[in-house]
Amino acid sequence: MDENKIPQATAKRLPLYYRHLNNLNQQGKQRISSKELSEALKVDPATIRKDFSYFGELGRKGYGYDIQHLIYFFRKTLDQDEIARVALIGVGNLGTALLNYNFIKNNNTKIEIAFDTNDDKIGTTIGGVPIYSVNDLEKELKRTDISVAILTVPMHVADEMTERVVTSGIEGILNFTPARLSVPDSVRVHHIDLSVELQSLIYFLKN
Ligand code: ATP
Repeated sequence: MDENKIPQATAKRLPLYYRHLNNLNQQGKQRISSKELSEALKVDPATIRKDFSYFGELGRKGYGYDIQHLIYFFRKTLDQDEIARVALIGVGNLGTALLNYNFIKNNNTKIEIAFDTNDDKIGTTIGGVPIYSVNDLEKELKRTDISVAILTVPMHVADEMTERVVTSGIEGILNFTPARLSVPDSVRVHHIDLSVELQSLIYFLKN
């Protein structure tokens, strides 16, 4: 299956589907309707049917979807992501939490290396991940063939660190800083601003 043919919005939902279907599979469930999935995942059934249609004719009327069959197709697609190796830049409060969390429960993606400027942190490990000096950033990123960087540095160094990781060949950045990063077209940035998310949730509750 050509991964490039799957729309971005669909690709973003795949890990969600994959995790839920694996849970169902472990519970011994064999099939599921788009309606049931919709209720569990809060994604509307038409969207689910459309998403699944990119993986061929996997559903049958009155039967639903074969869970193992779906897992098989999703794993094949997601496997391409698992090759990506991840670094974290900035081991402060949020960075430390992410290193301890380290996505183990979600999938096979793991942060392999972290960088900081603080001598007390350099040379230690958190959640099994070694912390290096940012002075070694370029050297280590190239040596380890890392393609994704998680940015949890203070905002005032976000641009500088972005430039450095991009120069080192990083292809994707998960940006937890409030900074709006500018990168070449070949680099993809996903922005997670936790304060903005919280503020906007509170705004919607009040209005
Ligand atoms: P802490 O309480 O540990 O300082 P914090 O989240 O409040 O955490 P921040 O000021 O946001 O601290 O900094 C996050 C982390 O980024 C710190 O560990 C800091 O040492 C580190 N840091 C600062 N500048 C850089 C840089 N240029 N590259 C990598 N890490 C950096």
